[in-house]
Amino acid sequence: MKADNKKSGGIRFTQNLRYTIWLYFMVFILFVILLLWVFQLVIMPITYQNEKIANIKNVGKIISAEITNENYKEIFDQAAYDNGISIKITDFEGNTLYEADVLAGGSAIPNKDNNLMNQYREMILNSPDNKIQLIAMNDKLHSTTLLYATLIGTPEEPLGFIFLDTSLDPLVSTMNILMKQMFYITLTLLGLGMIISLFMARMISRPIMKITKSAHALAEGNFNVEFDGRGYEEAEALATTLNYASTEISKVDNLRRELIANISHDLRTPLTMVKAYAEMIRDLSGDNPEKREEHLNIIIQESDRLALLVNDILDLSKIESGNQPLTISEFDITEKLTEILGRYTLLSEQQGYDFTFESDGNITVKADVLKIEQVIYNLINNAVNYSGDSREINIRQKNSADRVRIEVTDHGDGIDEELLPVIFDRYYRAEKSRRDIIGTGLGLSIVKSILKSHSYPFGVESKVGEGSTFWFEIIL
Ligand code: ADP
Repeated sequence: MKADNKKSGGIRFTQNLRYTIWLYFMVFILFVILLLWVFQLVIMPITYQNEKIANIKNVGKIISAEITNENYKEIFDQAAYDNGISIKITDFEGNTLYEADVLAGGSAIPNKDNNLMNQYREMILNSPDNKIQLIAMNDKLHSTTLLYATLIGTPEEPLGFIFLDTSLDPLVSTMNILMKQMFYITLTLLGLGMIISLFMARMISRPIMKITKSAHALAEGNFNVEFDGRGYEEAEALATTLNYASTEISKVDNLRRELIANISHDLRTPLTMVKAYAEMIRDLSGDNPEKREEHLNIIIQESDRLALLVNDILDLSKIESGNQPLTISEFDITEKLTEILGRYTLLSEQQGYDFTFESDGNITVKADVLKIEQVIYNLINNAVNYSGDSREINIRQKNSADRVRIEVTDHGDGIDEELLPVIFDRYYRAEKSRRDIIGTGLGLSIVKSILKSHSYPFGVESKVGEGSTFWFEIIL
């Protein structure tokens, strides 16, 4: 038994599973043994005696009924023999009318002792229902008998007495046999109980111990560890869950490594550029305003790229850590889309992008407005970045009974079918080498995280050479 100090300050006792199973099992077996002994020692003698009493009374009834029968002797002999009961019938004065001395010397009914017979008669006459029932011990023969005697006739017109006596000794010998049996049963039960409980305890705790060992290995960073819970269903379920968890953890771990590698690579490139151009200005172009302007612009662009990357990483980690709960409010999604598109006016004027917006009409939705705004931004920015020469971007808002569907379509190069399932993954960039497109590879995973936290469906349809449509649905 171990005492754990819990955070709450209380003390909790934990017990070894094996020991607990063994203990409970043994307690159960001891209880069963106790029950058996109680039945044998207490209930058995009582039921045996009750049975004997019922038996002797029954014979008493037969005798009373058949006493006038011509063949009474045969009937009584038979009853005495069948039931192992000594019978004596006397007249009122005590003269023996019939006698079947089955118990012989062990009987409590004396053959000659008139004193004792007188005592019995006295007792019968004095008892309220003119019957006596007593347990007699014969010290000489060490025998115990049950004596039952009753008056024949009525107290007013007494005819005689019936004395019946049956041995209770079989009970004693039976009890002795049973006690011996019980002793062996107890020993066997205890032994078997011990073996079975130890076996069971081992069987139940073994998979758990194995799983614990594997979990230790996992905690130490061995992601290839196999959880084996063979033995019973619950342990298997636990092992399956842990195997799943370890695969997921290893995925996350791989992703973390990959992410750090990618991020450091992407941070290093603009930093190198910033350093190189800064040196260039210092050493070469400092005095040439045109060159200097050009080089400074590159430095600014690269710094922007760095800022974007850092912001995206921060956004994503905040969203994914769940530290940013959704701030749900009501807003008009059509107005929001129009407002966002308004911010692209400069881009369309300066660089010739053509934005179209089709809407089924104003509609109010309930969502985290800032986050939904970010989703729309990211999708439109991607459309702008990947629209190629067509420079046409269509935004559609489709209302239906229970949802509003937003679609952002571009007519650029499209996305390879096999890449569609992975583009929403963190840090995925189809064309990693294209530095002309400013991107971090995190935009779509931010979209995915936000939409998932809202439980909104989303997806993409794309054809290489024709363009792509990114969509999501705000559930009303
Ligand atoms: P990035 O910062 O690289 O745009 P995203 O997570 O936004 O990162 O997108 C991941 C990748 O998905 C992009 O690198 C690009 O290859 C692909 N992609 C995203 N949007 C589009 C689009 N509209 N057309 C074609 N490819 C796209």
